[in-house]
Amino acid sequence: MEGWLPHLCGYGVSCYIYRMTKIFPAIASLALLIVISCTRKPEQVIMTVNGPVPATEMGITLTHEHLLVDFIGADSTGYDRWDRQEVADRVIPYLSELKEYNVRTLVDCTPAYLGRDPWLLQTLSEKCGIQLITNTGYYGAHSNIYLPAEFYALTAEELSGIWINEFENGIDGSSVRPGFIKIGVDPEDTLSEEHLKLITAAALTHRKTGLVIASHTGPDAPAFDQISVLQQYNIDPSAFIWVHAQLGSLEGNIRAARMGAWVSLDNVNLNREAGSEYDVNWYADRIQQLKKAGLLNRVLVSHDAGWYTPGEENGGDFTGFTGIFKALVPALEELGFSRDDIEQLLEINPRNAFTIKPYK
Ligand SMILES: [Zn+2]
Repeated sequence: MEGWLPHLCGYGVSCYIYRMTKIFPAIASLALLIVISCTRKPEQVIMTVNGPVPATEMGITLTHEHLLVDFIGADSTGYDRWDRQEVADRVIPYLSELKEYNVRTLVDCTPAYLGRDPWLLQTLSEKCGIQLITNTGYYGAHSNIYLPAEFYALTAEELSGIWINEFENGIDGSSVRPGFIKIGVDPEDTLSEEHLKLITAAALTHRKTGLVIASHTGPDAPAFDQISVLQQYNIDPSAFIWVHAQLGSLEGNIRAARMGAWVSLDNVNLNREAGSEYDVNWYADRIQQLKKAGLLNRVLVSHDAGWYTPGEENGGDFTGFTGIFKALVPALEELGFSRDDIEQLLEINPRNAFTIKPYK
């Protein structure tokens, strides 16, 4: 793992300063300390399907989208369910559209057993010139139908062993390594035994890999339950992305963001009728409320859109990834958001969320 975390500068300067401590002890010791902390600092990276990339290269990012989703269930899905060329032909026009909006990175949130395909993602990234990020982890939402049968016999430690192995050695024999942990829990007030195991395994995986945990969650109660599990493992809430936080209360969003968690407002949809629940203005208003609370730096937005559906003619309906740029950004500008605010939302926050944290 150390191989891709090069040091920023060498140790020659520190040796020189060490010799200087003989002459000007106090000043030189201080300088030595500064240089050591500089030399020890690893480069910050994100993990794309084509390997690690400096976080500074992430650019404008869509943090929760899907290129393919197979809803048939964990017991029946598999790579033989779709033709990669046919999927690529369908998806590429939607990815290409993003160039117009200077999007450089798209986070594909399709988990294992729901159609995650590392070879497909690599091909799409190469053909479109957009950086893609995939995930490790299992999705328990929708009453566990996307959990593989072996899940039930595994402990949280064993489960995290599978996910850590994907990060260290690649997914399913490919060279693709995950750039985050994706799990999913049901929207109940109390986490089920299975979902407690998922967040515990995610905590153990995070501690070993530094990958951020994005959890399909919804309402307030399961969000705070998961954050408190992480805290039991001494993990800062900033390692947690509360996915579908738009289904939580404003108060809950504010509380989680104050704790440091990422509040992900997903499902921005250009086609939702103005005036209906969760139209673009609803999102603009929620983001404004969070900004007023001084928490714009904890907010993520996404379409949670796409995607090619195996088993449907030509992959079925496909929703593109441009609503944020065509409708949400103008709505925010109307509310007085500056260019810096938009950059915070679409570039700085994704970078801070997905940069791999070296764990101490
Ligand atoms: Zn999703």
